[in-house]
Amino acid sequence: MFDNTAAKKTPQFSLSNSNKRIWIKHPLACFTGNDSDARGGIVIQGSLIKEVLSLGKSPLEPVDEVFDARELVALPGLVNTHHHFYQTLTRAWAPVVNMPLFPWLKTLYPVWAKLTPEALSLATQVAMAELLLSGCTTAADHHYLFPTGMEDAIDVQVEVVRKLGMRAMLTRGSMSLGEDEGGLPPQHTVQNGDTILADSQRLIHQYHERGEGAQVQIALAPCSPFSVTREIMMDSAVLAKKEGVRLHTHLAETLDEENFCLKMFGLRTVDYLESVGWLNNRTWLAHGIHFNEEEIKRLGAAGTGICHCPVSNMRLASGICPTLELSQAGVTIGLGVDGSASNDASNMMYEARQALYLQRLKYGAEKITPELVLGWATKGSANLLGRSDIGEIAVNKQADIVFYKMDELRFSGSHDPISALLLCGAEKAEHVMIGGQWRVQEGKIVGLDIDSLIEKHKALAKALVAS
Ligand SMILES: [Zn+2]
Repeated sequence: MFDNTAAKKTPQFSLSNSNKRIWIKHPLACFTGNDSDARGGIVIQGSLIKEVLSLGKSPLEPVDEVFDARELVALPGLVNTHHHFYQTLTRAWAPVVNMPLFPWLKTLYPVWAKLTPEALSLATQVAMAELLLSGCTTAADHHYLFPTGMEDAIDVQVEVVRKLGMRAMLTRGSMSLGEDEGGLPPQHTVQNGDTILADSQRLIHQYHERGEGAQVQIALAPCSPFSVTREIMMDSAVLAKKEGVRLHTHLAETLDEENFCLKMFGLRTVDYLESVGWLNNRTWLAHGIHFNEEEIKRLGAAGTGICHCPVSNMRLASGICPTLELSQAGVTIGLGVDGSASNDASNMMYEARQALYLQRLKYGAEKITPELVLGWATKGSANLLGRSDIGEIAVNKQADIVFYKMDELRFSGSHDPISALLLCGAEKAEHVMIGGQWRVQEGKIVGLDIDSLIEKHKALAKALVAS
């Protein structure tokens, strides 16, 4: 696809020369995430999209390079809004394969408590590389494990994000309600409120980039109602407002959680959320399954967003997110792979396909279209992260664009390319551009030795469950 002859002599798209004008010419199909027609192509300059060309149109100004996209389907970079990168170390672990959420968590907590900085670094690389290869350009991670020796967990992750050249919303998670106080996690895995807040503030000041084109952002993310105190929820909301960052947590994932909230706080989940100052448009929630009608209306009125995680919800048999009622009420829906011990893949296209099918079971085939689901995976997810500079193909948006090739056996005989991505099960992007820079070329991540990464990651994963 890199068809210009000049490209054969020099690096195809130099990562250092960011001011070139590139015409991504005549894509086989393009989902822009809006009403514009991009059949003529997309012109990139620097990190931005400068022109979106309808059929038959050519760039207004001369271009430095032409990228022939005739065999490629283009999408805005997919945005993953909920994950636990470290869990790639405990995928498909036999003791928890058939467990629902609470026993699954209680069995895994002691294993996760042995996490090391090296293991987290490798786990983050594995999860992000897997996401990137699936066509994901921005990923949120929810990291809430800070055992002794892991105080710099988010710093370790920032390093990986920069190495891979992806965008990330790293959420400073927390657990502060141990078993001794009626919570779910073992006491040695929880931190006190002062430590959590001080580190949250440090991370925001050190890493949170503001404005368009941000690569690393920080949000605050107490883990779940059954693993944090009311105080840390309230204090995190106050700090997030003061610092202008977003809030994230798990909510309404299972009925066990709802019963826990009723018993522990005397409140249903949304009442609890409101009582700690979180029912607002700064917050996005993972899962959001078990709501009644009145709660859905309140979430919509508040502008709180929901990240739908279909595979995790199916694997743990947690329930089905009521996406259409939520969006009718004004709630923004995005997608997340969750996991990686409850999925156990980090593949955004695979997740979008599962979202299509799970939601069709709930609402019927006519209402859940591939375009609706791709919208959740791109613009919807971007909105959950508070971003309007990514998630669609439009002038002056970031040039985060992913390309899929339809030459695999699975696509043979397919007709509509956009539908085929989900219906035939696209798994792998051919090329991925982030901020105008190629991060995946011809199915390979630029500058990453995958074989060596797998070897090291596998060894540490084995050691983690064995020790
Ligand atoms: Zn989760």
